[in-house]
Amino acid sequence: MKSFLSVRRPSGRHPVPVRLLAFAVALVACVPGPPAIDGTGTITIAGATLIDGTGAPPVEDAVVIVRGDRIEHAGSRADVPVPEGGEVVDAAGKFLIPGLVDLHNHYRDGLEEWSWALQLHAGVLTVRSLGSDHGQTPAMIAEAGAGNVPAPRIFTAGVGFTHPEGFPPGKLGPATEEEARAMVRELAAQEVDLIKMWVDTFLDTRPKIGPEIRAAIADEAARHGIPVSAHVFFEEDVWQLVDAGVRSFVHGVRDQEVDDDFVAMAQENGLTFAPALGQAKTFWWVAEHPELLDEEEFRAGLQPALLERLLDPENRAAMLESESTARRRVAYDYVTKFVRGMNEAGVPVTVGSDSGAGNIAYGWGTHHELETLVEDAGLTPLEALAAAGAAAAAELTVDPDFGSVAEGMAADLVLLSADPLADIRNTRRIERVMQAGVWLERGLPEFPLREE
Ligand SMILES: [Zn+2]
Repeated sequence: MKSFLSVRRPSGRHPVPVRLLAFAVALVACVPGPPAIDGTGTITIAGATLIDGTGAPPVEDAVVIVRGDRIEHAGSRADVPVPEGGEVVDAAGKFLIPGLVDLHNHYRDGLEEWSWALQLHAGVLTVRSLGSDHGQTPAMIAEAGAGNVPAPRIFTAGVGFTHPEGFPPGKLGPATEEEARAMVRELAAQEVDLIKMWVDTFLDTRPKIGPEIRAAIADEAARHGIPVSAHVFFEEDVWQLVDAGVRSFVHGVRDQEVDDDFVAMAQENGLTFAPALGQAKTFWWVAEHPELLDEEEFRAGLQPALLERLLDPENRAAMLESESTARRRVAYDYVTKFVRGMNEAGVPVTVGSDSGAGNIAYGWGTHHELETLVEDAGLTPLEALAAAGAAAAAELTVDPDFGSVAEGMAADLVLLSADPLADIRNTRRIERVMQAGVWLERGLPEFPLREE
């Protein structure tokens, strides 16, 4: 029926009999009327351009019907009529995208609620905490999951693995394979969503976690059905980790250009990369663009001590002159080329801002990553939105019910006042955020000054 009726749309080009026939069929179809949707209790967002987060082309004049915490219908007005009753939001001229998914975040003990409030404000409605849950953070994540603390949907790695003398400090640093396996079993008992490991020398300042230990971690995680995500820098480590069963990576190859063999290996093994480009360039970007410090959303998402350091012109000059910045720029050239190549080869590139690390502000950082993927790695805005949509969601769970706007999905929506496909920075022009069917009261939170 649907496909037959579609004959009618380019009607100007059809001879009269076909148009008449189509008209007659349409009339017959209209006699009983399309099944009327009872709008009672629904919220309908009507008239926006829908960018559904899968990479599919936008749908103009869309109708999205929300019932409870779910999307009941989403499509063009021609297919989905606005129901009678319920609340109707006229969104003509606006743009609707799914709540953003950010795969790379670090939350600080005591700053969780503040961080999550910033992310909700920015329309970041699903996050992955990547290996730094300390102090009260696990308990806060549990509270958030129970709905007692306003927060995005949270997936967590708990505490991640590194070399005993590696970076970051205070993480799990098993000395033997047996110890590594015991630690993975402990994390499994805590019901973490994934295992995180850092495999990096941090500009030759720290030892890397050993290959046998990595393999033991990956093997034990697989026994418990838990995925592993690895922070990488060197190409050789990606090969070794893939051999050990790892498929999910944050950052990317930053020590050299990869060849066709690597690309084929990445395709064959279904690798994914969340490159955190915005975080990588943050070590000079703020110094080169001090006007960022005028952006309310950037300032509000940084801890005050960090903001103060960045506001000092001497510190910013030192950032530009430091030897480590020069090395990071070289690595950045490699990783942007790498991401471009992966994206062109169809290897999923996803959004992970590394918020809470470097000079990355919660909430703002996710939008900055979208912008950087487009500007520096050649993703189209549509691809970037899929990277923070369905592609990122697929990384978190086998059959995600979030990350895209479609029937049956969670009603996590961000309504924009300007077109993100025309300019990806328009994802920041947020009018309203809906989480699980509820419009959020947005606002930038105050930094929580702890009483000493
Ligand atoms: Zn990180």
